Amino acid sequence: MNKVLIAGNWKMNGLTGDATREAAALADGVAEVAHVLLMIAPPTTLIHPLRIKLFERGIADRVAVGGQDCHAEVNGAHTGDVSAEMIADLGGSHVIVGHSERRTDHGESDAMVKAKAEAALRAGLVAIVCVGETEAERRGGETLAVLARQVAGSLPEGATVKNTVIAYEPVWAIGTGLTPSTDDIVEAHAAIRATAADRMDATDNLRILYGGSVKPGNAAELLALDGVDGALVGGASLKAADFLAIAAAAPARA
Ligand code: PEP
Repeated sequence: MNKVLIAGNWKMNGLTGDATREAAALADGVAEVAHVLLMIAPPTTLIHPLRIKLFERGIADRVAVGGQDCHAEVNGAHTGDVSAEMIADLGGSHVIVGHSERRTDHGESDAMVKAKAEAALRAGLVAIVCVGETEAERRGGETLAVLARQVAGSLPEGATVKNTVIAYEPVWAIGTGLTPSTDDIVEAHAAIRATAADRMDATDNLRILYGGSVKPGNAAELLALDGVDGALVGGASLKAADFLAIAAAAPARA
């Protein structure tokens, strides 16, 4: 089985001083969590500074860095956007696509997310494709249908278990302190894996992360669930101590 992946999403938080401080704090604790893979997606402005600080601390090979979004095109007249190639050029190895804040704030459809995920693969990045139902969809009993539609519509052509990760992030659980029941998470992950199996091989080894209010206090329970291969962590990734505590709670896998 794959090692667990703990991925941090700093969202629109952090200045260069934060990258310096967090890299130092990560360096202090990273040896204790050798059993997991770590990735941090800072704001685009910090991809390079964070990489430099991780190098200076000698842990650049232990903490991967990625983007929070990318444009589908390589370059062009897209003011304010960043391509997957630009993230790779800065030393990024992953990119999150289809985060619910992008789907909501920027009207990103499954087709747009798929195009971005394909851009990630084109640039040699690992695409972390986010899916998840809203509170209204959950109340309406539509969760599994929404997940099936999003997975089918957002997975890139050419997806493999090496270049693609799926993050199940119920929209109502992000930043709220709420989480689904453990049974609901297991059911959602199984449904996502089943849909992904129509589009890619060997989905037993596909990493499906859970995201939504993962904290040091609930990480052990969430990360031990069947079909949960790691976590996408927002708020709690902003402090290295919490991020590392979440990683420490993850089960060791070969
Ligand atoms: C996220 O934004 O991807 C996320 C999971 O946030 P939080 O951990 O703060 O709920």
